[in-house]
Amino acid sequence: MSSAFNRSMRRGFHLILPLFTCAWILCLLTLTPSPAWPLTLELPAAAYQGDMIVGRVRPEAPVFVGEQRQAVGRDGVFVIGIERMQPADITVSARDGKTESRKIVRILARQWDIQRIDGLARRYVHPDPEQVKRIEADNRRIEAVRTKPPSPDPWFLDRGFILPVRGRVSSVYGSQRILNGEPKSPHRGIDIAAPEGTPVKSPAAGVARLVAPGLFLMGNALIIDHGLGVQSTFIHLQRILVKEGDRVVQGQTVARVGKTGRASGPHLHWGVSAGTVLVDPQRVVGRRFGE
Ligand SMILES: [Zn+2]
Repeated sequence: MSSAFNRSMRRGFHLILPLFTCAWILCLLTLTPSPAWPLTLELPAAAYQGDMIVGRVRPEAPVFVGEQRQAVGRDGVFVIGIERMQPADITVSARDGKTESRKIVRILARQWDIQRIDGLARRYVHPDPEQVKRIEADNRRIEAVRTKPPSPDPWFLDRGFILPVRGRVSSVYGSQRILNGEPKSPHRGIDIAAPEGTPVKSPAAGVARLVAPGLFLMGNALIIDHGLGVQSTFIHLQRILVKEGDRVVQGQTVARVGKTGRASGPHLHWGVSAGTVLVDPQRVVGRRFGE
């Protein structure tokens, strides 16, 4: 009995000794003043034009896309919006003064729906100067919300995005009209056809940042901030059911579908922005970010 006990003790010791040695070496490594703990960048290897990507830097350090500094939120999470016409791969780097970590994200091209319409009367192509002034003032209000310093909490991260309204997508992201040979600004959101009064659900958790009724083209507009510079913009609304500053959860009814402003019929226009870059909402729905 005692020899069996001794055997098992020896076996145990054989297991413990290497573990102990490992712990000792690790201890020595941590006590050695340099090298610093390496910076690691977690990022997808590739993305499509119009995508939103979420990355993470460990330990927390400033992150750059090219030379442009990105907002880094809690736990080192950051968001990059890829432009619709992003022409080349992007270089993302994390720098902590002593060391730098670099990664390249391959950008994959997409085909956009381009429609050419010729022989239109001039008034359909150019709005009058008074209208242009109002449109520009409205755009500045929206832009001001998108360029504010972002909240460091990525509220969208836990549960991702759902569609705010179930219905037929009547106009996709990225489509563009060329009227009398003149390219108009591309569609930077999606249109979902739905009857007036249909509830609009918040696609992700967040805070209501802008309640703007009566805009010239956009009608009644609402912006929900999902954190880290990611925002949903809803326009042509019939009614808005939240106030600026209200916290909202995913799936909460925040507005009702309408046709206010310049809309040919009732539908929800939903835009998703990452900073000032408008990305494709259909490519964020159902995605698991940061995994
Ligand atoms: Zn639209």
